[in-house]
Amino acid sequence: MKPILSGRCICGDVTYQCESEPKFSIVCQCRQCQRITGTGHSPQFVVESGKTTVSGNVQTYAMTSDQGNDVISAFCGKCGNPIYKTTSMMPDVMAFHAATLDDPSLFKPEVLVHSNSAQPWDYIDPELKRAE
Ligand SMILES: [Zn+2]
Ligand SMILES: [Zn+2]
Repeated sequence: MKPILSGRCICGDVTYQCESEPKFSIVCQCRQCQRITGTGHSPQFVVESGKTTVSGNVQTYAMTSDQGNDVISAFCGKCGNPIYKTTSMMPDVMAFHAATLDDPSLFKPEVLVHSNSAQPWDYIDPELKRAE
């Protein structure tokens, strides 16, 4: 079956395929996403883990979210590119950083989360729905 979404890291060692549409898509302004991306926010799409395949040398770093959930950041062991996150709050899904897509224009942001951590220089479309 042809994947609906596919992507990879900078060096190409880590690749992924998703066989279902995203459950939802977010733009996250939490401090972890800021640090992970080095920017003001991380656009991410959330897919079912059972319908997603990841290949290559994926390394992980475990951390605790501002809300106290266990969060894992997965990145390429060769080039260091952050690829996705998982959280104990929603164990059956993976949140992929949208710009790792082979075609990032397929990403459609639906909701802004953790805007309470927003940086004053980080412009977000005012039309984008706010979660909080
Ligand atoms: Zn890589
Ligand atoms: Zn975040």
